[in-house]
Amino acid sequence: MTDDNSVLPTSGNLVIIGNGMVGHHLVKTLVEQGDASPWTIHVFAGENRPAYDRVHLSALFDDQTPEDLCLSPEQWYRDNRVTLHLNDEVVEIDRDTKTVVTAAGVRQEYDALVLATGSYPFVPPIPGHEHENCLVYRTVDDLDAIKRCAGNAKRGVVVGGGLLGLEAANALRLLGLETHVVEFAPQLMPVQLDETGGALLRKEVEALGVHIHTGMKTERIDAGEQHTLRMDFEGHEPLETDMIVFSAGIRPQTAWAAGAAWNWVNAAASWWTTSAAPRTRRSSRSANARSGTTGSSGWWRRATPWRAPWPRC
Ligand SMILES: Cc1cc2nc3c(=O)[nH]c(=O)nc-3n(C[C@H](O)[C@H](O)[C@H](O)COP(=O)(O)OP(=O)(O)OC[C@H]3O[C@@H](n4cnc5c(N)ncnc54)[C@H](O)[C@@H]3O)c2cc1C
Repeated sequence: MTDDNSVLPTSGNLVIIGNGMVGHHLVKTLVEQGDASPWTIHVFAGENRPAYDRVHLSALFDDQTPEDLCLSPEQWYRDNRVTLHLNDEVVEIDRDTKTVVTAAGVRQEYDALVLATGSYPFVPPIPGHEHENCLVYRTVDDLDAIKRCAGNAKRGVVVGGGLLGLEAANALRLLGLETHVVEFAPQLMPVQLDETGGALLRKEVEALGVHIHTGMKTERIDAGEQHTLRMDFEGHEPLETDMIVFSAGIRPQTAWAAGAAWNWVNAAASWWTTSAAPRTRRSSRSANARSGTTGSSGWWRRATPWRAPWPRC
């Protein structure tokens, strides 16, 4: 291994960090090559279950189970001689020895390394956001936490009136909570819609019984009197709630690897998608393409075909 992109391996140990939809698609594509694949594949997953269809996560609030969303069960990895480490995050990449090290202490040497670590939900650093009833909406475990919390709640607030925020609000609504959406911008989905579109959407969402508060900046979260929490806003009356779901955007999951591996990882990614493995070229885009959506990096901005999270009125 070198940092020079011109010398790249074509076989050996392939380590894939991350078992989301993209990491899984890469594994599946390689497995489909059968004996033609020159790689021994090791996958490290931060979550405690194999990759699942995150795009349809909200179906867990209908009649679907995590098993229904599973892309390939653990047995599939075993059958295809892929070593899958669940619930064990890679915490270090040692470029000198070409080894990854996990939180549980597993060390695995690699010839090629792919980071498919995706994104994490951004939680604005509002004082009080650490409260146990402040949650996010990204994983099966997050949704379990929301369901648990909602069991003792009467009112829920979603911070963020974008696509995902509205999806989360619909989930709270389905759980029977009095649901509020707090959005910093003067309208819903400010990135995708103009003022007229925002006003129309607001009307539809309000018709479903959801309370919309736009132009509201949350300043702090404290203990409430009637409900568990009280949200204080700049220039507005406080709002009490029993739980808060933050849906204020996502950030790429790269901080832990910063400085450790970028040259090499970039080299691996560009090599992987352009030369050595032609059948895997579309690895990153395909996971999203299959669901009729666009690449993950720009989906917040592009307002491309999303499933409508709201029932038609
Ligand atoms: C409710 C919901 C609805 C969505 N709907 C749409 C939609 O309609 N259209 C659309 O285009 N997109 C949608 N998205 C976004 C889409 O799910 C993501 O773009 C896609 O799942 C990204 O896949 P990924 O594999 O790159 O990353 P992720 O899904 O983020 O998966 C990355 C995985 O890597 C793991 N990981 C991270 N760091 C490490 C580490 N150090 N060691 C081991 N593992 C690690 C994480 O635990 C995670 O499981 C939606 C997302 C949500 C939450």
